[in-house]
Amino acid sequence: MPDSNRSADLFDKPLASPFLRAVHATPVRPYYRPLHARDGEAVMDGRQVVMAGCNDYLGLATDPRVTAAAGAALRTYGASCSGARTLNGTLPLHGELEAAVADFLGTEDAAVVTTGFQSNLALAALFGAGDVVLSDNANHASLIDGIRLGAAHRLRYRHRDPVHLERLLTDADPAAAKAVVTDGMFSMDGALAPLPALTAAARRHGARTIVDGAHDIGLLGPAGRGAAEHFGVHDRVDLFTGTFSKCFGSTGGFLAGPTRVITYLRYAARAILFSASMPPPALAAAMSALEISIAEPWRRHRVLTLAARLRERLSGLGYDTGSAAVLGESDAGPAGPVIAVRAGDAAACVGLWQRLLDEGVYTNPVGPPAVPEGCCIIRVTLQATHTDTHVDRIADAFAAARRLTPAPAVPVLARPR
Ligand code: PMP
Repeated sequence: MPDSNRSADLFDKPLASPFLRAVHATPVRPYYRPLHARDGEAVMDGRQVVMAGCNDYLGLATDPRVTAAAGAALRTYGASCSGARTLNGTLPLHGELEAAVADFLGTEDAAVVTTGFQSNLALAALFGAGDVVLSDNANHASLIDGIRLGAAHRLRYRHRDPVHLERLLTDADPAAAKAVVTDGMFSMDGALAPLPALTAAARRHGARTIVDGAHDIGLLGPAGRGAAEHFGVHDRVDLFTGTFSKCFGSTGGFLAGPTRVITYLRYAARAILFSASMPPPALAAAMSALEISIAEPWRRHRVLTLAARLRERLSGLGYDTGSAAVLGESDAGPAGPVIAVRAGDAAACVGLWQRLLDEGVYTNPVGPPAVPEGCCIIRVTLQATHTDTHVDRIADAFAAARRLTPAPAVPVLARPR
């Protein structure tokens, strides 16, 4: 049956999602806006604003040591290797960064990849026909795509629900090779995966555990190795993926784990084999930022302290920041630097975003599919380079917005689960 809504012109497509269509029905245009961020602030439309929507959690992307390292590599090696790792795309810097990542995470080996997204796409090479992949239903798009690109059977367990995972593992073919795949810290609301229970369930059923530490490696845990270290289960994770674009001030990604699986992926993962390698300035910036993050643990402590303070102030103003989910069921650990402020429907969400911007604070308005239906959020992120005054200005902007739009008398949104 032909679909009467379909056009015969391939290019005749509506905006991707109902959320975006609803945003475009308002006068607010929050996306693809040029801005230039540095040290916790940004210049947008010629105006200086507080940057509260950037994943540079440790404040290293514009650190002079990081930019100097990138500049030196640029002058020495040029802007690009213009080739894949297997052929002409390997510099000594690639091996040095891989050794540094493996050393930091305590894994046998690591492979650096051009983006974090590609490190998750590379996982497809592991997921063969007959294998079973169990994936948290709020995993990042790149993990979902990596799983879909593979041939394995995909089962989704409820967000952060080890009991549901256990049930799916129990029902799965005992003879199948299995993997449990999860974000360490979920990107949109900063919630932590319950890794002790997930890794225990995986072990009971002979499944491998793969954790995407994009948002938590460099930030959480006594040595900054991430959410698994924070929970004391770092050595129960079989394979880590991650990015240099958040804590490590650069762009690029990595996979870290046993030598045999990293070697296999180097030769089997199409996202590695058929893409130009991480460029020299990005490599040098990542190396410098990794070293600084290890030498200056105050950065991660600072950003976590600031986040706890802001979260408290926003809750005091009557905003729902979902902090119970952030802390995890049985965990009294740190609240991360990602604060998800529930913001109602698309129009309410971008309306709040615009008011915050008018008050001089840039944030991220987020709707489905990045968050569940009906759960639009203003995603607020902090950085180690924010001052106390920055945090006050963010809270004051939310207070001003609240004066214009009072809190609803009853919660209108279910927490995403
Ligand atoms: N994993 C997660 C959880 C992410 O949030 C992101 C980026 N938003 C990525 C992977 C992709 O990383 P990159 O930006 O380096 O491609």
